[in-house]
Amino acid sequence: MNVQGILPFTRTLLQSVCHEGEIAVDGTCGNGHDTLFLANLVGETGHVYGFDVQEQAIAVTTERLEAASLLKRVTLFQQGHHQLEHLLPADAKGRVACAVFNLGYLPGSDKAIVTKGETTILAVKQLLTYLKEGGIIVLVIYHGHEGGREEKEAVLQFARNLPQKEAHVLQYGFINQSNTPPFIVAIEKRG
Ligand code: SAM
Repeated sequence: MNVQGILPFTRTLLQSVCHEGEIAVDGTCGNGHDTLFLANLVGETGHVYGFDVQEQAIAVTTERLEAASLLKRVTLFQQGHHQLEHLLPADAKGRVACAVFNLGYLPGSDKAIVTKGETTILAVKQLLTYLKEGGIIVLVIYHGHEGGREEKEAVLQFARNLPQKEAHVLQYGFINQSNTPPFIVAIEKRG
């Protein structure tokens, strides 16, 4: 396949803005794959803040980072991402280069623990105040599960209504795949 899939395109967007010394946020650590990716991008001098409501997700992410000797670059919170304005340092305001959210449930775990439109939108609103100009929030929207359609609709409505002067908002996804494939909504903060 020559067009980029959802995961590669997510990473293309993140690495286009996140370099050595930057601050990054993983809004849904899950098994920690994106957290590890971000920890590599920010380098020795940057930092990643990661959120997940599940103890298991925080434990698996911690292990993954430890195995890569990158745990010191990351602060993990077992908290909902909508708490981020209380947990990120105040001096991170206007300095966050990128954030990623994988919406939905953690594969292989309790399917009842899912992200919800209301709290996802709260987190994104808060993040927009932490984002630097040109910084990007990537939302990977899985919506095939129970409650997924409602979250998808809420996030799309919110994102579509962001003022054009304040953000570039992109939707990226495959439109001929079966089984409610995930898609991306990316929000770039404008100057
Ligand atoms: N990016 C992850 C990875 O690489 O494995 C997958 C994330 S998974 C699709 C979604 C995660 O969001 C789950 O681990 C779930 O526990 C978490 N979650 C659900 N509601 C949340 C909330 N309000 N705040 C933070 N995390 C939440």
